[in-house]
Amino acid sequence: MLTSSPTRVRSLSRFSGFSLRTGRGRLILLLLALLAVALAFWINEHRTLTWKQAINPIYWYHRLRGEDLYDPQTAFLMHGNRALPEVALTFDDGPHIESRARILDILQSNHVHATFFDVGRRMDENPALVRRTLAEGNEIGNHSYWHNRLDSLSPRDRHREINDTDIAFYRITGRHLTLLRPPGMRYNPTVLADIHALGYTVVGYTTASRDFDPTETADFIVNRTLNRVENGSIILLHDYPETAVALPRIIAGLRARGYRFVTISEMLAHLPDRRRRAAERYANQIN
Ligand SMILES: [Zn+2]
Repeated sequence: MLTSSPTRVRSLSRFSGFSLRTGRGRLILLLLALLAVALAFWINEHRTLTWKQAINPIYWYHRLRGEDLYDPQTAFLMHGNRALPEVALTFDDGPHIESRARILDILQSNHVHATFFDVGRRMDENPALVRRTLAEGNEIGNHSYWHNRLDSLSPRDRHREINDTDIAFYRITGRHLTLLRPPGMRYNPTVLADIHALGYTVVGYTTASRDFDPTETADFIVNRTLNRVENGSIILLHDYPETAVALPRIIAGLRARGYRFVTISEMLAHLPDRRRRAAERYANQIN
């Protein structure tokens, strides 16, 4: 049997030239630790999964079966097709008078269509921006009327938050909304069931650019977005002035990486066959 005696350990460390007792040994250890920290930073900056997903076996089980893209039970779009080099730009919380027109100008001059999750009360304030957004080939989804967290409301108030937004949109456009993103992505099974009963497709996101944080610069927003994108990413941006500053570089950077831009409806229509058929069945049943 092999036992390691103190003599043996000593002779081994002498052989490899590595010992924690020497200054050189400590230096090597320090360098390795720094390297590990740098690697962790790099992985964190370039990750396309949350850490929670990465270590969750249930997530990987669903992902291997292609169930991480769209859930037919709740009509929830979580991710686009991983086999297609396409991404969806989504802008929440508008239409803001200070930024929507600039964002639309940039999208138009770059021949890009995006999806806007608008708040009902701002639709009422800026109906012309709602009309222009649609006229230029973009999509609009429901983001509640007052931006209240849907899971903190009574069923009656929740219903009102969602329906008042649709009424505002209908008054302006003569059309109904079919996509919905819950404010703050706050939901629970009851909220999802209520949204489903109203006929909406719920839209999540995969890439948060952190443009909601007023301390972040346009440079940060650009880098964060470009680093964390993959095939089928749904990119969460906001209808804010700083996002408009970052947007031309985000579009150019994504194009340079070979991505094309799709709306959420196009992303749903491009899902792998089984998911796409389920999404179509739901949409047809509603309309
Ligand atoms: Zn929001």
